[in-house]
This record gives sequence, C-alpha cells and structure tokens, in this order.
Amino acid sequence: MSVYSGPVFDMARQQFDGIADYLDIDIKYRDRLFLPKRAIAVTCPIHRDDGSVAVFQGYRVQHHLSCGPTKGGTRFAASVDMGEVAALAVWMSWKCALTGLPYGGGKGGIAVDTTTLSPRELEALSRRYMQEMIPFVGPDVDVMAPDVGTNEQVMAWFMDTYSVHHGHAVPQIVTGKPLAAGGTAGRREATGRGVVHLIGRAAQEISMPLAGATAIVQGFGNVGSVAALELARRGVRIVGVSDHSACYYDPAGLPVEALDAHVREHRCLAGFATQCSIDPRELLVQPCDILVPAALERVIDADTAARLQCRILAEGANGPTTPDADRVLRERGNDVFVIPDILCNSGGVVVSYFEWVQGIQKIFWEEDEVNKRLLVILDRAFDQVIARARRDKVGHRTAALAIGVDRVLQTKMARGLFP
Ligand code: GLU
Repeated sequence: MSVYSGPVFDMARQQFDGIADYLDIDIKYRDRLFLPKRAIAVTCPIHRDDGSVAVFQGYRVQHHLSCGPTKGGTRFAASVDMGEVAALAVWMSWKCALTGLPYGGGKGGIAVDTTTLSPRELEALSRRYMQEMIPFVGPDVDVMAPDVGTNEQVMAWFMDTYSVHHGHAVPQIVTGKPLAAGGTAGRREATGRGVVHLIGRAAQEISMPLAGATAIVQGFGNVGSVAALELARRGVRIVGVSDHSACYYDPAGLPVEALDAHVREHRCLAGFATQCSIDPRELLVQPCDILVPAALERVIDADTAARLQCRILAEGANGPTTPDADRVLRERGNDVFVIPDILCNSGGVVVSYFEWVQGIQKIFWEEDEVNKRLLVILDRAFDQVIARARRDKVGHRTAALAIGVDRVLQTKMARGLFP
C-alpha cells in the first residue's frame, strides 16, 4: 500500500494521468514524474500551558529536486495528512514550472486545530516542527512558506529556529517572513493581488468590464481578504464572502473594508453586524460574475459545478475543483472562464521566489519593483495558457497543467537517470 492516500491525493493522480495521456508521455517517465522524491513524517511533542505534554504529527513532502530546491507552504490544520500534503506538493511543482521558477514543489504541515493552542503553545509547536525538519531542509534543498493556518509570525519562528541552530541568520530558509526578519515588500498581498490581476485579464478576454461586475469570495484569509479588497477597489461589488465561521450574501453589496477590519480584530467573520447570513453550501451557486474560491480543496464538486452561475471562476485556493466538476464544466460548453489554481494563485510563490533571491543577494527591492516583476511573470503564464488552450482546443486547466508537467519532464530527460 502507498504511503499516500485520500481524496486529495487521488485527485492529483487523476489529473496527472489525464495530462500524461494528453501529452503522450512514455510510461517509463510517469511514476518518476508523479511520485514524490521524499516524504518526511515527524512527531512534535510540546509542553502545554497547564504542564501536560501534547504530541502532534507533522509532515513534509518534497516532490522533485530536478530544477532546484523544493518550494511550498506549511499548513496547520486538522485535515493535514501525508496524502493531502503530497498532493499539494505535486501541484506546487506544476505551478513553479508553469511560472518558470527554478523550484520543485514542496508542502508540509501539522495536523492541529490552531484555535486550541495558546500563542505560546503555537510558538512551541512551530519551533519544534522546524527543529525536526532541520536535517531535511535548507535554502538550496527545501524552502517553506505560509499556507492555511500559518502566517508571517510562524515563518519568523521557523527562520529564527533554523538560524539559531546554524549560529547565524539564514533568512533565505523560509519566505513569507515579516519585513523585520528579512521578508520582501509585497509578499503578504502577492497571492490576492495576482488573483485580481488575472481576473482582470480574464474579464478582458470575455469583454466584461470589471467596474460594476459582482463577485463572491469564499475564504477570508490572506488570499480571500486581499482579493476582495482589491476587487472592490476596482469597482467590483462584493456580494458574498465566507470563512469557516460565517457566510454572508447580499446582492446589494457587502462592506468589504468593514468586514476586513472586523476580521483583523476578531480573527474571523462571525459576529459581524449583518442580517445577510446564508447557508455556506449555497454561497458558491448564487448569481455573480466572478467566483473566487480561496479556502480549501474540493469545494466545487460535480453537483455544484452544474449549478454555478458565474462567468469567471478564479481559483485562489489549491485544488478547489474536482475532476468530476471539471467534466461538468466541459459538458456545459466551457461557458465559465476558468483561471486554474496553479496559474490563479501563483502570485504568492512568485513573490516568495523574489524574497528568496533578495535574501541570497542581500539586496532589497522597492514594492513597485516587486509588483512590476510579478505582473510580467503572471502575464506571460496567462498568455501561454490561453495560447495552448486555443491551439489544442483544451480547457485552461489542461493547458496549464500540461505546460507545467512538460517542463519538468524536459528537465528530467535532459539530466538523465543516474546511475
Ligand atoms: N502556500 C502558497 C501556495 O500554495 C505559497 C507557497 C510559497 O510561497 O512557497 O502557493
């Protein structure tokens, strides 16, 4: 039996098999391309505030090392297991290849509900996790970043723990750090900003003006909140938002700035003064021009896909749409313009790459420079995906995955198999 299992890993495999058939990849390359190079499981004990000891399982998957170090986030969530982390690492590989970054994919995480931890316990767990990972990571081996349930502070603890071990500051060991710990301008906003830039490109393609359009954003974390604020700034009416605690829908438009202020203060959407609550399962299928799933995997299944009313589906989350849902969207005649996850949310890892480069060179860029370079990379990837989809008459996801998978294949073929 494989160490990787579960619905998210099955989804990554199913997608890969489809792409391998479409690209007609020789069978001898398939497992080599898809199966992770390394998977690490660690046990992280910490002292709880009451003096007891709690033990948590941590994971890290390094998908391939053919182009450079592995790169990807660290997720703290109850759902985390080896299968989920492996799928997310695989997707990071295709994402980095699509955007032309010199990385393989990585992902890690701890199975923990962070709301059950005090701030001191969260720090202890973050530091213990990095301590356990020290033998397996490094600026040229595997570079972590934030993901669901982690943030700049957790990255600062990772960086500090690694640096103390080595006896000097090693900021390039993680990205998504605070500016004060060697982070880059523009990293925190990068994913949401990239999502909105690509929505702008998609809107042009379907001749839909952004000003006056409507949007629903699922997830109000680092990706969803920045995307909602930026869409609102561009004249889009935000008619729906949700997170794990609450779900609001108002066709007249929601006050995004006030919602953001509420989340900054209370750490979740629950408790916001509004009459507009709606069943979270119904949010995604309400009428809107732009739908941004920016939370977790597999939220759009075949049934939901059949009922979507949006014109643009901008996947801020990783893996929000199941292969069955993709089939339904195809059967609908591709009336929804899909910006697939590995393109749509790639702004985050692109600016992580800028942060890593700046950390290595010890030269720091202005935010304008970061944003300008980000848009160049996103525009190039968007143009390549659209061109490939048109040329081969395939969906945008197939085109994006095919470009990513093929680039990793080309590198592996050029380097050969040792010994
Ligand atoms: N966790 C983010 C992602 O899924 C960012 C990864 C990174 O910046 O390395 O793309």
